[in-house]
Amino acid sequence: MPETDDPHPSLPPLRDVIRDHDLHASKTLGQNFILDLNLTRRIARTAGHSGSTPLNKIVEIGPGPGGLTRGLLMEGAQHVTVIETDDRFQPALCDIATAYPGRVSIMMGDALKINPDDLTDGTYKIVANLPYNVATPLLIKWLSQSPIRWDSLTLMFQKEVAQRICAQAGEDAYGRLSVLSNWLAETHIEFDVPADVFVPPPKVTSAIVSLVPRERPLADADLAVLEKVTAAAFGQRRKMLRASLKQITKDAENVLISCDIDPTRRAETLTIEEFCALSRALKDYL
Ligand code: SAM
Repeated sequence: MPETDDPHPSLPPLRDVIRDHDLHASKTLGQNFILDLNLTRRIARTAGHSGSTPLNKIVEIGPGPGGLTRGLLMEGAQHVTVIETDDRFQPALCDIATAYPGRVSIMMGDALKINPDDLTDGTYKIVANLPYNVATPLLIKWLSQSPIRWDSLTLMFQKEVAQRICAQAGEDAYGRLSVLSNWLAETHIEFDVPADVFVPPPKVTSAIVSLVPRERPLADADLAVLEKVTAAAFGQRRKMLRASLKQITKDAENVLISCDIDPTRRAETLTIEEFCALSRALKDYL
C-alpha cells in the first residue's frame, strides 16, 4: 500500500507506528485503518471544500493511529480535537500532538456520549472514518443538534449506507436516513474508497459523504415526529401508506387525504416536503 511520508521529521510512517505500539486492529471496535496519507489528505481537502469555512476547527472522531489526523494537519487544519474510545491509541496520538504543538487536543472516550459543541467555540467541522454502526447513530445525533453548529460533516460510510444518506425520493436507496439527512442538510457522495486501502480490508466498498447544513430545514416539521413517521412508513416499505401508518392512527387514510397524499402510495415515493406535511398532520396522534 502506498504511504506518503509525513514531512514532519519526528513522525514515523504509520506502518511503523502500528508496529511499534502493537496496534493490531480490533474487530469489535470496527477498526480498519487508512495508512495512505495521500488518501487521508484528499479526505481533508474534501472537508476543507465543504461548508462555508476552511479547515479551521476540526473535531475528528475515531482517529485510531492518526492517519486522518495527520492528513488534516498536513492540509493546514488550524486545530484538530480528536475523540477516540480505544486507549491503546493515546501514545501515538500524543506523538502527533507533540509534533504539531498547540494544534491537537486529545479526548479519550465514547463519541456517542460526547457533544462536540462542548469541545470548541463557534463553527467547526466534523471529520470521521468510523464503523457504520457507530457513524449512523452519531449522524442522527449531530443532525438533531439545535441549532446546528457544525459547518460540514465529512464522513466515511460503507457505500450502501452512503447511497442511503444521499438518496432522493423514488430511488431504491431512499429511506428514513435519506429523509432526515436531506431535510436538514445538503448531502453529496464525494468519492468511493476501495476496500484495499484499509488495513485490514473490509468486505465492502466505502465512500466519503459530505453534509452541509441547510440555512433552514426543507419544510416545517418536528424532528421527533418526523423520525416516528418515517420509521412507521419505511418499517413496512412495501405496504401502502394507509396500512403502514395504521400503527400511528386508525385514521391514517383520512390524514393522508387531508395532506393531498394518495393513501395507496408507498413510503419510497413521498418527497421530504410530503413527509413533513404528514408529520405536522400526525403530530397530535403521537
Ligand atoms: N480514523 C482512523 C483511520 O482512518 O485509520 C481509524 C479508523 S477505524 C475504522 C475507527 C476508529 O474509531 C477506531 O480507532 C475505533 O477505536 C474508533 N471508535 C469506534 N467507536 C468509537 C466511539 N464510539 N467513539 C470514539 N471512537 C470510536
